Amino acid sequence: MATQSPPVKEMTSRQRVLAALRREPVDRTPVCNPTSVATVELMDLADAPFPGANRDARAMARLAATSYTELGFDSVMPVFSIVQESSALGCNMQWEQKDNWPTVRMSQPIWKDLDDIRIPNDFLSHPDMVCVLDAIRLLRKELGDEVAIIGKTMGPWTLGYHCFGVEPFLLMSLDDPGKTMACLERMKEATVQFGVAQIDAGVDALTVPDHATGDLVSGEYYKRFLMDLHAEFVDTIPVPLILHICGRTVDRMDYIAETGMAAFHFDSKNAPSESMEIVSDRISLVGNINNPETLFAKNPEDVRAEVFANLEAGVPLIGPECAIPLQTRIENLTEIPKAVRDWHGQQGHAH
Ligand SMILES: [Zn+2]
Repeated sequence: MATQSPPVKEMTSRQRVLAALRREPVDRTPVCNPTSVATVELMDLADAPFPGANRDARAMARLAATSYTELGFDSVMPVFSIVQESSALGCNMQWEQKDNWPTVRMSQPIWKDLDDIRIPNDFLSHPDMVCVLDAIRLLRKELGDEVAIIGKTMGPWTLGYHCFGVEPFLLMSLDDPGKTMACLERMKEATVQFGVAQIDAGVDALTVPDHATGDLVSGEYYKRFLMDLHAEFVDTIPVPLILHICGRTVDRMDYIAETGMAAFHFDSKNAPSESMEIVSDRISLVGNINNPETLFAKNPEDVRAEVFANLEAGVPLIGPECAIPLQTRIENLTEIPKAVRDWHGQQGHAH
């Protein structure tokens, strides 16, 4: 008779996510959203439309809770946008309306040089920071220990795009790598401060998006500018960290796996099996379900096929690859936890 590991007894959603982030046994693979799963339909259900849900703590918490209560995911993540910190740093903001993401007007950058960089003393008391911190407290109060609450703090590379403009920041990294490193060192304070404040408010884990994306910079760039900084975050921000970088990233996954981050939130441009082969058990992978084609435009059976491909490759947490399009249909999202349950049912045992 083949020896089998003893079955893991039923876990809460929170236990399941946290165990998978530590690469420990789980009763079933968790469904996890390190970035936004907010949609226009969910905004209507929760009476929490954008832009208010990005600026008012109660609306933010109501909309975030729907990933657990309506979609059946194992996590909630209230920081839908990537602009809360940039607003607090003084960037020119466009908050948009219900059906559009808020953005930073990067054509009007606020910083040009190293000495322009300043994290205001009242950074954490800015209303767009307080909104996130209060929403986390509300979610913890309302959902208790049932579900994993994931926060989000933007990495310094992304803050560089927002505050310097994408092109000026990338040009600086070519012209003067030393100055770019010094800029990242100053901006990282914002990442750490906001991350630690969210831990105090009650998050279980934090997503750190840092958009050194496949189409803009190379794997060697990642190694030179960000690998050590990301490893430092693991020491200074004491909860499991989930690094998010979009695009084709297999050329940097080996470096990412060495940072000590708990997980890497990976894009569908990387096949689940090739990605697992690179990272092995050094870091958990999460994500990979395609947004623009599959979740947005295809049908539940297509979603199911991608979920199964991830499960078969041994990916430890399943979810969308990035913040989902706001017009995504609910039935495509609820298919993710359904498919995970069915796959485990067919396997007849937990993985
Ligand atoms: Zn992304």
